[in-house]
Amino acid sequence: MHAASTKGLPLMRMRLEIVWPNIPKRHHDQQMNTGPQLPTKQVQSTLPQYPAHTLEVGITLQRGGVCPIMEKGVTLDRALELALYSPLSKRTETVPLEVGRGRILAKPLSSKVDDPRFDNSAMDGFAVMTSDCANSGAELTIVGTSQTGGQLPPRITAGEACRIMTGAPLPEGADAIVMVEDTEVRGDKVTINGSARTGYIRKRAENLSIGQEALPTGTHLSSASIALAGTMGHGEVEVIQKPKIAVLSTGDELVQPGTELESGQIYESNSHALASLVESMGCEAVRHESANDSMDELRATLDSLSDCDAILTSGGVSMGEWDLVRKIMEEEGDISFWRIKLRPGGPPLFGTWEGTPLFGLPGNPVSSLVVFHVLVAPWIAKSLGYHPEMGPRLSQKVSVKLEENVSGAPGKLCLRRIRIRSENGQLLATTHTHQGSGNMHSMVAHNGLTLLPPDTGGKAGEVIDALWLL
Ligand code: AMP
Ligand code: MG
Repeated sequence: MHAASTKGLPLMRMRLEIVWPNIPKRHHDQQMNTGPQLPTKQVQSTLPQYPAHTLEVGITLQRGGVCPIMEKGVTLDRALELALYSPLSKRTETVPLEVGRGRILAKPLSSKVDDPRFDNSAMDGFAVMTSDCANSGAELTIVGTSQTGGQLPPRITAGEACRIMTGAPLPEGADAIVMVEDTEVRGDKVTINGSARTGYIRKRAENLSIGQEALPTGTHLSSASIALAGTMGHGEVEVIQKPKIAVLSTGDELVQPGTELESGQIYESNSHALASLVESMGCEAVRHESANDSMDELRATLDSLSDCDAILTSGGVSMGEWDLVRKIMEEEGDISFWRIKLRPGGPPLFGTWEGTPLFGLPGNPVSSLVVFHVLVAPWIAKSLGYHPEMGPRLSQKVSVKLEENVSGAPGKLCLRRIRIRSENGQLLATTHTHQGSGNMHSMVAHNGLTLLPPDTGGKAGEVIDALWLL
């Protein structure tokens, strides 16, 4: 179960001090709202601010008998701000480096050693004194060998050279390396035919010094960063425990792919996309089989998923009579907003079920994915403190030059699917398939989304903001 301190508080912040005395309660409502009441002053000071752009502010009766405010038709920024009142719980664990790949650092990692630890050679060859090698053809006496992991090499003096392997310590007295290819050995003598280079010496700590922080908190441990953690001497890493995020599709018409379809049925696809996006964001996806459009089934399923850290539903959040996720959240959950000024992806809601954050994503396949990219992914990243550059992310904001006119959307941020390609140092964007929010093929045929501000189209040749989907 979740710590009340992380999940209960954001909800408490949203509450008004108005109590409806005779609200019918569900069987397990007794457990709700038992957390400490915030003093009225604090409640008022932490209430969300309602800016002028809010279209409508609705009031919803809650099963706990209190009355939070639900905002309707919010901007994307506001939606994220409201969702972050109920962040994903963050816990950490320590794991051995060998299973750290793909995890996210919960603490910065500093180097336990200088890197390199000692001056060493970047080449197989001979360690020499530059002053001995001014003329091609100089002959030097070989006084020893410096090997990796071996004894420290002997000191060299004028007229001497020491055989050296890549990575082996530089002998005292030497200040340059001659590549083996530029030498000729006869007995204990070596003739220097090429140049002696100081640049072939890798200097102690030229990469990292002891104590230097090279991997900040929130870093996604890629193969390179996990190798760097090893270079710095860390056999274990403290990482963010993978939060469990439930993924639940809703709709009577949905059938899992691979089975026979009956009349009126379609293949369910959203949960597959959403679960893989959840995993890409460093979380564990708990895919549940899709729920029918029934209040009882939805209630039971949501209850069974409420011990996850968050729930993502898809479908059932629009205006229709059978949009039961919206209805059950309005009647029995705690909603903080419904509908975003976004196209596609207008209908989502956010709230909590049994204290568990819940995103009600649209059923239209493109809309559910797009809303994950622009709202759920940033919510996960901000909740868990991912590093903006080094943390897991699904998209990159870029400027693209449009190759054709694209229309915007009245009053809404418009996320048209675009194909982005790089040509002559510039990112160019085109559209290809039909842009319907049910057309999943459009998400594969394109690799980006426009960020056209409300009421703004884009003309061919114009440079606009876009999200490049990674
Ligand atoms: P809804 O939001 O429930 O009204 O669904 C909108 C559209 O998306 C309908 O055409 C649904 O059949 C379709 N849809 C809903 N959920 C899914 C899903 N999980 N996979 C594929 N299509 C879906
Ligand atoms: Mg539906």
